[in-house]
Amino acid sequence: MKATLAPSSLISLPRHKVSSLRSPSLLIQSQRPSSALMTTMKTASRGSVAVTAAATSSVEALREGIAEFYNETSGLWEEIWGDHMHHGFYDPDSSVQLSDSGHREAQIRMIEESLRFAGVTEEEKKIKRVVDVGCGIGGSSRYIASKFGAECVGITLSPVQAKRANDLAAAQSLSHKVSFQVADALEQPFEDGMFDLVWSMESGEHMPDKAKFVKELVRVAAPGGRIIIVTWCHRNLSQGEEALQPWEQNLLDRICKTFYLPAWCSTSDYVNLLQSLSLQDIKCADWSENVAPFWPAVIRTALTWKGLVSLLRSGMKSIKGALTMPLMIEGYKKGD
Ligand code: SAH
Repeated sequence: MKATLAPSSLISLPRHKVSSLRSPSLLIQSQRPSSALMTTMKTASRGSVAVTAAATSSVEALREGIAEFYNETSGLWEEIWGDHMHHGFYDPDSSVQLSDSGHREAQIRMIEESLRFAGVTEEEKKIKRVVDVGCGIGGSSRYIASKFGAECVGITLSPVQAKRANDLAAAQSLSHKVSFQVADALEQPFEDGMFDLVWSMESGEHMPDKAKFVKELVRVAAPGGRIIIVTWCHRNLSQGEEALQPWEQNLLDRICKTFYLPAWCSTSDYVNLLQSLSLQDIKCADWSENVAPFWPAVIRTALTWKGLVSLLRSGMKSIKGALTMPLMIEGYKKGD
């Protein structure tokens, strides 16, 4: 199936720096110079289904599914794993026999590695306003707000997450710095150019229209600002290859059903989208090896007595999620 991005149009867009990491981690960093440029966004005809917009009704159903999924599962995740709902970053091939604190450190390391990859660490004084797109219960926002002394606003589709994120901020005396609300990443309730750092940690995989997603991230980024996207991607297609192998697609489809994901795309798809928006310094890397040790560890915690009891209490969506985790491991092992 072919997907088409927005038709050619003349738009005013500041230029950005972008860097990206592949899967689950695609990190895209963007920097806008201070003056806006008139630039043409070219029509791109692309081979990936994932960059197209899905039909409105299926988008609506997906949005509801995502909200319900996180409403139901976030409590369990927090109880077992804490407030970061994303992969840890490990040295390749590191043992998965790490203690819980080791995993928490790996999740913090994921944030730090992402900032470092994007060159944000050297610019921390410039980071005054941050948006956390797909914020979960706000782990990244609170960490980044504390690190940079920045103001951070997070958006999520899940009312349960938004409330919990605000409660945690209050408990940590951070309410004056961070706040959370229910809003759609594809139609963000913010004016243009508001944020020095646009942060999307493992939420892009949920977006049914990657072109719209990226365009929104760019729209809310300030001139000279940066955009970081860490997200799940499938492998890049080889030259002449039109689609993934059927078994690969089948594996991803099964993961999509449980985790409320639309079709996946590759890092190349993201880079092409970003290039079409005239961003500056696009950087992209594949962190599969660094994040692969994560899922075996999650499964091990789920199999403890506490994990099993919490899982059963949490409900069907969590149980299905747990049963899907081995597919993530298979995907990494097979290079999907
Ligand atoms: N970034 C967080 C949470 C990752 S889980 C962390 O690392 O801890 C994925 C998050 O993306 C959830 O909070 C979910 O509600 C959010 N999300 C998915 N689709 C979204 C959309 N269209 N708009 C806003 N948030 C979305």
